[in-house]
Parts: sequence; structure tokens; C-alpha cells
Amino acid sequence: MRLLVVEDEAKTGSYLRQGLSEAGFVVTLANNGLDGHHLAMTEHFDLIILDVMLPDVDGWRILQALRQAGKQVPVLFLTARDSIEDRVKGLELGADDYLVKPFAFSELLARVRTLLRRSSVPTQSDLIRIADLVLDLPRRRASRAGRKITLTQKEFSLLELLARRQGEVLPRSLIASQVWDMNFDSDTNVIDVAIRRLRAKIDDDFTPKLIHTVRGMGYKLDEEQDDSH
Ligand code: CA
Repeated sequence: MRLLVVEDEAKTGSYLRQGLSEAGFVVTLANNGLDGHHLAMTEHFDLIILDVMLPDVDGWRILQALRQAGKQVPVLFLTARDSIEDRVKGLELGADDYLVKPFAFSELLARVRTLLRRSSVPTQSDLIRIADLVLDLPRRRASRAGRKITLTQKEFSLLELLARRQGEVLPRSLIASQVWDMNFDSDTNVIDVAIRRLRAKIDDDFTPKLIHTVRGMGYKLDEEQDDSH
């Protein structure tokens, strides 16, 4: 899941980036409105956290531009101003939620997850089931055949990506950019190692095997029997 954070206060920005990265998100930080506007309009994000008060292009204008361009990405507003007019204006312009500074990080994280859940397509369901594998998205927990599987945040993000796109072959480059925020030319060995670790947890003790290597192409998660694994 890719998040854009537009926040001009360096301290808040890096605090958000670190916290959200640790929670398993891939975070892009823009520290001014111009960059934020450009990134929001040209790149894909699953959610945008937008500070209202920015010195150049403010949060209102970024939100307005997004909605006018028909972009439905969920937007969480951060506002230092606690006036009712600001909240109303934000929601009228198409913000999905807002938080008044200062806020607790746990509160922000809960709001982010709720918004992502609400906007996830095609189902609104909180669970993904593939064979006897169950992913509990809001709690970021996985189990197979009723047995809890302990995963790191990155492992869960990787599994979630594969599961959301069940049956699709995902190239290493796509996995790298979605889960690690790395470019195509980066060391894709990281992906292979992570897949191996995930397999050990998800597939080694179970049948059918769910994670499949598609030689020369990438990986997919699917319930199919005729595979050499
Ligand atoms: Ca600000």
C-alpha cells in the first residue's frame, strides 16, 4: 500500500514517514505543496495524508485539483486549526476524513486503515480467503487451516499484495515498488529471499501450495494443484 504524506513541518513529516513505514506502508513524503500537488496528480497512491497549511500550494487546492481531475484516492486531512468551518470545507471539497493536530499516532493509523478498508475494491470485506489461507486485513493477521501464522509487517504486506491479486503473475519489479518502494534495477534478490521466507511460513507445512514461481516472470498466489512449486 502506497501512501503520500504532504507535510511541510520536517519533524512531523519524518515522524509520520517512520511510523507509517514501520506499520508496513510504502511512504512518499513531500515537504511542500508544489511537490505534493505534482506527486498526487501524476503517481498512484492508495491514500494521501494532506496537511492543510502549506506555504505554497495549500491542502485545499491540492484536494480540489485531485477531485476535479476525477481522482477518488482517499484523502485524510491534517489540520492545526480546529474551527468547524475548516472541517466543513475539507469535507465539502471531498476529503474523506480529518485529524486535528496534535494527534496520537495510533489514532492516525486507525483512521488510515479504516479509509483504506472502505476504499478497497472490489469487495468491502475485511477478510481474504484463498483455500484455507485467511488474511484478516484490519488486524494484519494470517492463518492457514485455522493455525495462526506469525508474519513481519513486510511479509504481511507481500502476502496481502499477492492475495489481493490472486492468480495474477506479479513481476519482481512490481513487488519491489509496491512493498519495498524500490526501483526495477534494485537488488531483486531481496524479493526472492522474502518470498522464500514467506513460503516457509505459508506453504511448507500445508497443501495445496499457494505461492508459485512463474519462471522468468515473477510470482503468483493461487490455489492450483499442478505445480512443481
Ligand atoms: Ca503545515
